Amino acid sequence: MIRRLPPNSTIGIFGGGQLGRMTAMAAARLGYKCHIYAPESDIPASQVSSATTRAPYDDATALEKFAHSVDVVTLEFENIPVEAVRRVAAITPVHPGDGVLEICQDRSREKSFLNGIGIGTAPWAEVTDLSSLQAAEAKIGRPAVLKSARFGYDGKGQAGLREGDEAADVLASVGADSSILEGFVDFACEVSVMVARGQDGEIATWPAVENRHVNHILDTTIAPAEVSAEVAAKAEEIAHHIAAEVGLVGVMGVEMFVTRDEDVLVNEMAPRPHNSGHWTIDGCLTSQFEQLVRIVCGLPLGSTERHSNAVMKNLIGDEADAWPEILAEPGAYLHLYGKAETRPGRKMGHVTRLKPRTDK
Ligand code: AMP
Repeated sequence: MIRRLPPNSTIGIFGGGQLGRMTAMAAARLGYKCHIYAPESDIPASQVSSATTRAPYDDATALEKFAHSVDVVTLEFENIPVEAVRRVAAITPVHPGDGVLEICQDRSREKSFLNGIGIGTAPWAEVTDLSSLQAAEAKIGRPAVLKSARFGYDGKGQAGLREGDEAADVLASVGADSSILEGFVDFACEVSVMVARGQDGEIATWPAVENRHVNHILDTTIAPAEVSAEVAAKAEEIAHHIAAEVGLVGVMGVEMFVTRDEDVLVNEMAPRPHNSGHWTIDGCLTSQFEQLVRIVCGLPLGSTERHSNAVMKNLIGDEADAWPEILAEPGAYLHLYGKAETRPGRKMGHVTRLKPRTDK
């Protein structure tokens, strides 16, 4: 059943970073208010939202008060503790729900889920100690990547296992009780697909895009991906299939590797707006952020049609200092996140450069 919220309702958002900020900006355009729940101070989303609760995710009183003060809740970060989500969901609907989060918070569960619905990944095995690492290595070989099962992002909690590396040192450098060893994929390129699924199960995908990383952080997204029509269709089908099978209500980024023989393997999925979907603000009829607002408020899905080709460049650290030059460029759409302090490796903003769509 679709629960339709009228304009002026309040959307609660777990997490206060730039994804929450851009969701709140899309919500404001449609006449909704946002209330941010986050433990940190000085957060980008609060600058554009009507209320903020600053409290830890295990503060039951604050969570319940938050739940009573909003009409629906979503999240901008998949590592919200599921206990917090369940506590709030007992009072107010939360999209996406705890079941999706449980899968996406743990790489081992995520990969089992994907393989269980017939989706290919890099070969992988669970690792809890040196002997299971050695067993995993015997199965997968080198080079491989050891990844902590939980709380990894932008290459954090990961280490390569190459010829000559000491397995015990690699295990210690990841430093997690639970991790997975993954075969190294010698990919031709990395792509991702943003997918949206409404409360009634309607699904829409945006076109597959190519992602280029620098120092494990997304640097550039090229939309659409310069891959064959077959690869793009395969990637979009995979995202569609995952959204349906996981019972997503919300938007999700699905990151994939395209192998040299044009196979598409899923790396990971993030059940929230995703950095590789930022270009949709300027390049599509409906952005990933507006779509999330539409979904949680029970409105019809918007068209995901791409009206322009786009290249999104993240502005990391002092790259954002180039804002005056970017603003002077025709066809460049600047987005700054209002972060007070510039730090190396910190996402300060992004710029999307549009070109006319060439294929129609
Ligand atoms: P992740 O945190 O899993 O998204 O990994 C971050 C980045 O590391 C990916 O976007 C890839 O560029 C690289 N990477 C992760 N896993 C693999 C793999 N199995 N083979 C090759 N590169 C990988």
